[in-house]
Amino acid sequence: MRDFFLTDEDRAFRAEIRDFLGRELAPRADKIERDEDWEAVKQVVRALGEAGYMKLMFRDLYDGPLGQPGLTHATILSEEAAYLNYAFETTIATALSCAYPLHSKATSAIRERYLTPILEGTAIGSICMTEPDVGSDSAAMKTRIRFDEKTREWVIDGFKRYISNATKSDVYIVWGISDPDVAPQKGMSAVAVPADTPGLSFPRTYDFMGRRGCVVGEVTLEGVRVPEENLLGAPGQGFRIMLGAFNFERVILGGSGLGVARSAFDIAKAHAETRTAFGQKLGQKQLIWDMVAEMSWRIDAAELLTYRAAKMYDAGMDGKELMREAAQAKLVSTETAVFCSDRTVQIMGGDGITRQFGRAEQIYRDARALPIVGGTSEMAKYLIAAREMPSVKPNL
Ligand SMILES: Cc1cc2nc3c(=O)[nH]c(=O)nc-3n(C[C@H](O)[C@H](O)[C@H](O)COP(=O)(O)OP(=O)(O)OC[C@H]3O[C@@H](n4cnc5c(N)ncnc54)[C@H](O)[C@@H]3O)c2cc1C
Repeated sequence: MRDFFLTDEDRAFRAEIRDFLGRELAPRADKIERDEDWEAVKQVVRALGEAGYMKLMFRDLYDGPLGQPGLTHATILSEEAAYLNYAFETTIATALSCAYPLHSKATSAIRERYLTPILEGTAIGSICMTEPDVGSDSAAMKTRIRFDEKTREWVIDGFKRYISNATKSDVYIVWGISDPDVAPQKGMSAVAVPADTPGLSFPRTYDFMGRRGCVVGEVTLEGVRVPEENLLGAPGQGFRIMLGAFNFERVILGGSGLGVARSAFDIAKAHAETRTAFGQKLGQKQLIWDMVAEMSWRIDAAELLTYRAAKMYDAGMDGKELMREAAQAKLVSTETAVFCSDRTVQIMGGDGITRQFGRAEQIYRDARALPIVGGTSEMAKYLIAAREMPSVKPNL
């Protein structure tokens, strides 16, 4: 049994979501990849919202049939969506990452204005942390957020890059330094910025090797003003809010990696079982067996680590308690996606790198982003080792 950590209810949910995505996403997946059709993305987001699936992470808002919805189910959703189209999955994973701090840290008025439409699937959200000189080292960010006492507004100046859903989102959660006189851990804040705010602009979007159909771009903030109530939590809590979302994001990314890895593996097996070489099925060759066996155990390891972390989170563990497990899930699943997509191309030979013969080449291009986004593999290893050796301060 692969899905060792899942209950019968979880498995029934997986069957339900697979069926739903088979109806809503599968017929549009090709348009999203080939035409980068944002309308198609929005239609599926809307359908997910209408069906209540965007609320899985938020037990107090969820009104569906699951007894105890949670990260386990949001991860299943991510895995099944990434299996069909990873670009689409990144759009909803990012919207959820935006919804997460809105849910836990925004005032009820701000929640109503920005969180509700995201969960209903009628709006999209972004999270803005990364800057040109600030990737893995997010504490070094240069964006400034200052409070204007006279107008009682937050004023934001900065430049963000690699922002998923940029230009398409309705709301942007922006992190910046609000008190430069203290350490960033205490002087960073986060604010919700609606898309139509004067001073917010989008210089360009990026042209990536994979993930066609999702939009990632730059965000410039020049004298952007938002009301006092748009602050998430209290002034100076931004770094804590950022760290608070990392475990959840890493587990979701475990699901993304798993979905991508599984889709590659299924293609590899189907090819090895049907293709003939030297008068025998390709799958009969020991060198092919080796690749199939290695993909199999890596996927099982990724699945066990991902759902262990999801179940721990749903049982109430978070913060440092979950850091090692969430980082392991993200690391192993995303590296497994890269490994499986590469071996699948190899098993398929020329067909593997040709657009006319299926999705192997697409999955290969898509997978490469996974060990970079949401914290790189190197950062995940640092988190794991830091928990294993608490007495040693790592030399970052
Ligand atoms: C498709 C895509 C979507 C994204 N979406 C978003 C988004 O929505 N919001 C957002 O804020 N950001 C987003 N990002 C940014 C992403 O989180 C960063 O790219 C990631 O954190 C890495 O930062 P960087 O690219 O600046 O690389 P760097 O931090 O410059 O790292 C470069 C390399 O050096 C390694 N490295 C860095 N420091 C160390 C060290 N101390 N020891 C060893 N190795 C080290 C890294 O692991 C990496 O391999 C996205 C990125 C991509 C590509």
